[in-house]
Amino acid sequence: MKIAVFDTKSYDIESFKETRERFMKEIEADNISVALDFQFFEDRLTEKTVKLAYGFDAVCVFVNDEINKKVIDTLVEYGVGIIALRCAGFNNVDIAYAKDRIKVVRVPAYSPYAVAEHAMAMLLTLNRKTNKAYIRTRDHNFRLDGLVGFDLHNKTVGVIGTGKIGQVFIDICRGFGMKILAYDKFPNTKLDVEYTDLDNIYKQSDIISLHCPLTDETYHIIDTESINKMKKGVIIINTSRGALIDAVALLEGIRDKDIGGACLDVYEEEAEVFYEDQSELIPTDEVLSNLIMMPNVLVTSHQAFLTREALNNIAYTTITNLIEWHDGHELVNEVMA
Ligand code: NAD
Repeated sequence: MKIAVFDTKSYDIESFKETRERFMKEIEADNISVALDFQFFEDRLTEKTVKLAYGFDAVCVFVNDEINKKVIDTLVEYGVGIIALRCAGFNNVDIAYAKDRIKVVRVPAYSPYAVAEHAMAMLLTLNRKTNKAYIRTRDHNFRLDGLVGFDLHNKTVGVIGTGKIGQVFIDICRGFGMKILAYDKFPNTKLDVEYTDLDNIYKQSDIISLHCPLTDETYHIIDTESINKMKKGVIIINTSRGALIDAVALLEGIRDKDIGGACLDVYEEEAEVFYEDQSELIPTDEVLSNLIMMPNVLVTSHQAFLTREALNNIAYTTITNLIEWHDGHELVNEVMA
């Protein structure tokens, strides 16, 4: 099976190659044999780059590839039979259009711990300013002014989306002695957590963390209107998808000091910027530049997933998904409209 893997970096290549070896040893034991021929491209899959997929059986894509109608039509025309997302979210694929044209599979869970732990790491860094302390002490500057934070203990955290990642984040927050409020469109009755409505989350929370998927309904769930309902000084964490937040409204909220801080692992317009070294280029995204400049904004480059465990699980499930398709078995992780 020839698989074109798009938007790849060294760590993807390493984890896929290692996992393929491990996988082949395992399945050889059952006398099943399928050769997986991965070709790794640095390019994202878009209308411009789709020609690279010619001659492949499958494409493997990530969070910022753009699989619209035109890309799907071209893949189908080339005889590509399956789009294997190596991530959980699938907002970047036109799933409705893909139906009955091409199979789409994803990795629904690879390590909720990786993402939830990163969300907490960002909150701790922003609050206790360990990033600034690190830079100071390396320069033998041992002063503490400007580094005052606050106790997380007894603060209220509002968690929007209580799926796999949201639940782990709730557990972590409990460990810090925080009060938890939760909102989910489909509340999980088995969870020991206090569900409330969004307005109450906005009103009560000192910290709000987003763990819901990006859908038509959640697009810009954080906008001027919702920010106006929040506690002054609230800290917002987004490790889900950039477009959950209206970045212009967020910047305004920060400038007006309504928002006390933002931890952003994702950004609405990240596709052209994240995962690349742009340090030598003149920045063109003013909103992103202004956000980064703020002393109370912490931006990471969509790296919440980036642990060894997560990468290996992503590669393992993707290979399983591809082999299921190759063998004509039921696609356990199929994404359907
Ligand atoms: P999940 O499917 O287990 O949980 C999502 C939860 O959101 C579910 O409980 C669902 O009921 C809820 N939800 C759906 N629509 C909602 C709405 N309109 N309002 C409120 N809640 C709603 O997913 P997960 O594994 O917990 O992942 C959550 C999100 O994290 C993913 O959608 C993805 O976008 C993001 N993610 C980011 C990274 C990263 O590296 N930054 C990595 C993995 C996942």
